[in-house]
Amino acid sequence: MASIELEKLIKNYGAFRAIKGIDLSIEDGSFVTFVGPSGCGKSTLLRMVAGLEEISGGKLKIDGRVVNDLEPRERDIAMVFQDYALYPHMSIAENIGFGLKMRGVAKAEISRQVQEAADILQITPLLERKPGQLSGGQRQRVAMGRAIVRRPQVYLFDEPLSNLDAKLRVDMRTQIKRLHTLLKTTTIYVTHDQVEAMTLADHIVILKDGVIMQQGKPVSVYERPISRFVGEFIGSPKMNIIESHLVTDAGRPELRFGEFILPVTGATALNGAKIDIGIRPEHLIPCTQEDALFSARTDVLEPLGSDTHAICLLGDTEITARLAPDPSYQPGQILHFTADADKIHFFDTKSGDRLD
Ligand code: ATP
Repeated sequence: MASIELEKLIKNYGAFRAIKGIDLSIEDGSFVTFVGPSGCGKSTLLRMVAGLEEISGGKLKIDGRVVNDLEPRERDIAMVFQDYALYPHMSIAENIGFGLKMRGVAKAEISRQVQEAADILQITPLLERKPGQLSGGQRQRVAMGRAIVRRPQVYLFDEPLSNLDAKLRVDMRTQIKRLHTLLKTTTIYVTHDQVEAMTLADHIVILKDGVIMQQGKPVSVYERPISRFVGEFIGSPKMNIIESHLVTDAGRPELRFGEFILPVTGATALNGAKIDIGIRPEHLIPCTQEDALFSARTDVLEPLGSDTHAICLLGDTEITARLAPDPSYQPGQILHFTADADKIHFFDTKSGDRLD
């Protein structure tokens, strides 16, 4: 196992700076996810840790040692990609043990380690088959098996589940988490899927344009996003954003949106300032008209069985509420909503920064 330190890490592709001076400490044994929109630099950053991309500036340390100039094979890491190439003519057991065989490990030892990895991944009955006789998810587990038997200091995953269907993705996600609980090997996992990023991580890193937007425990980031971008990126369905403006005339500051008013305390912004109100779908509470923060017309209802997503219109703004299943909800119906004060977020409309 190993800790990983990124110090002012930079990657230039010609004149384009893809990674803009990233500082990050990854604790020994932790599971870190890199997440962000396409092109944010997450794969580049992972490949720099792997040694597959040259580092243009800054320092990369593994276990306290600067490894900027070390070859990938000298870094004691194992990487699992989305395109997992297995040798088609070899059995699954031979595929998993291939790296060990190349390193001259004795046959009996290879067999023991392959068996152990197969047990962890629950693929023992498949060991004598060829890759062509496996499903996508099973092949993915074999690719992980190859990484496991190496027992590296660090695992790096680059969107390993993106070729799998929705159900397999969820199954494999559980497998990966179970594996980490068992082995406790330092892991970095790149994904553009925020659910994967949230559920797997001890520590989530949200990237945009080669910069870290926010990092921390997934729940902390979820509860207190430091910007509208992070608030909207993390969470599904995504956070509702309602545009408003601050009015301080009446002595008491309040936010106005359409015909609705939200009194606020401790407002430091100026009269007329544009402020985005952020409320997550599960924090909208249906209530009576008297208690309502606002009312909106139901446009589309999405019953999921466990709950119902009501997509409503507040003026031109789409608002999604996550409600308990109730067959009496109808499109066109006016719904009244309130929300607990500590579940309402405020962002500066212009900069997108959190205001409280
Ligand atoms: P995705 O989710 O689409 O894979 P990503 O966050 O992994 O995106 P990267 O592949 O790390 O993004 O790319 C980061 C930026 O660097 C992008 O703007 C990309 O166009 C650019 N980039 C990546 N590789 C190269 C390259 N070899 N030459 C020039 N630019 C590159």
